[in-house]
Amino acid sequence: MKLQTKIHLFSSVFMLILIVLINTAIYFLFYKVSADSELDQLAGQTDVITETLNKNPDIAEEELLKAFLPNDGMIRVIDKDSTTVIPTLTKKNEYRRLASSYTTTENRKMDKTANQDNVAVIEKPIIWDNGDIVTLQVSKHLVILQENMKILFYVLLFASVVMLIPILIGANILSRFLLNPIKALTGAMKENATRTKWKKIKVHSSKSKDELYEMEKTFNEMIERLSENFQKQDVFVSDASHELKTPISIVKSYAQLLSRRGLEHPDLFYESVEAIETEADRMQKLVEQMLNLAKSQLKTELQDVDFLILCSEVIKIFQGAASRDIEFTTSQQGFIVKGDRDRLEQVVYILIDNALKYSDNSIDVHLTHDAEWVTFTVTDYGQGIPVEEQGRIFDRFYRVDKARSRETGGTGLGLPIAKEITEAHHGELKVTSQIGKGTTFILKIPLSIKN
Ligand code: ADP
Repeated sequence: MKLQTKIHLFSSVFMLILIVLINTAIYFLFYKVSADSELDQLAGQTDVITETLNKNPDIAEEELLKAFLPNDGMIRVIDKDSTTVIPTLTKKNEYRRLASSYTTTENRKMDKTANQDNVAVIEKPIIWDNGDIVTLQVSKHLVILQENMKILFYVLLFASVVMLIPILIGANILSRFLLNPIKALTGAMKENATRTKWKKIKVHSSKSKDELYEMEKTFNEMIERLSENFQKQDVFVSDASHELKTPISIVKSYAQLLSRRGLEHPDLFYESVEAIETEADRMQKLVEQMLNLAKSQLKTELQDVDFLILCSEVIKIFQGAASRDIEFTTSQQGFIVKGDRDRLEQVVYILIDNALKYSDNSIDVHLTHDAEWVTFTVTDYGQGIPVEEQGRIFDRFYRVDKARSRETGGTGLGLPIAKEITEAHHGELKVTSQIGKGTTFILKIPLSIKN
């Protein structure tokens, strides 16, 4: 069943039940109030009859009672054997079938004749002329009440139908109001699923900022991010294949050279094998870094990492491998950050590795913190990075000096990886550099335990 039909059906049935319940309550309340007032009136008349009987003992009771007989009604006198003391007084025979019983208390009740007419009945004990206590039963057909109830029934029925019309129109407007944005959304989703184009939808009602507005806005934001990611992915795939082409074609040329002239020129053999090995290493590094970039998400469970210990360990690895001076300074304690230790280690590694690769002298590493941030800086005194290039070095595969970078085995993926990991830790990575003087990378990670 369509959502539109469901909304129609639910709202109409719900409102119909509500209207029927309210109208039934109105109907029976009106009946109760009117019947009570009719019974009061008849009880008053019965009191007048008993008073007149008491005041006129000389007049025959039957004659007196005849004078009080209502046009549409009946008067009956019942003794304790439940037999009528005088013949039942009535102009219509159907009243004779009304129940008769002896009672010593005053009763008021509603009854129905054989024709289903509503009848008010008052039963009252009185003293008869022979001294016996008998029951005086006075009944009256409630003609006006019956007519009024009939009119009320038709009025309520008409009102129910009239009320249902705006309800149906309202349900229609509501379902359109709710479903049109959903239809637009579904249409856009279908189009996006079949085409490569990323289609957004028109955002309505920006003033009310309701749930539909939120849904449309969120959908457009999602499409924006998807299209950006797909674009990035496209660029990444074409850049990656371009980067891999160079080493592959070098390996292929050397392999061809070997097959053509390798046997006659043994010196070529060693040169070719060395070149093939270097290019294979390059490809391996490139592939490893591409994989690193692809899985830039952090571990789901982050841990408290002591950044001081982490830096000391990475520096120790470099000091063991390279014969370069790394000056590490810090004057504080308490460098605990929340994060993925392996990924943070990778950032520190990339920054120190770059500083060593792109300078020839010693480098300075400094660690400090304030109330909110751990700040890690790596300074080298090398060639520096031109100002216009400083914004681009965080782009994938971007290298300032392609030849130098190739010599040092650079892939142009180190800084993008470092930047992504930093941002995943809600930190920031910046660079300041002066040509010929050197470069400083500043890494900031939020402190886990704020001071
Ligand atoms: P690579 O693998 O080429 O080093 P990166 O992404 O780490 O890739 O760096 C991108 C480019 O930024 C490098 O090719 C280099 O030109 C430049 N660069 C990075 N660090 C430094 C530095 N400390 N000094 C000078 N240039 C640097």
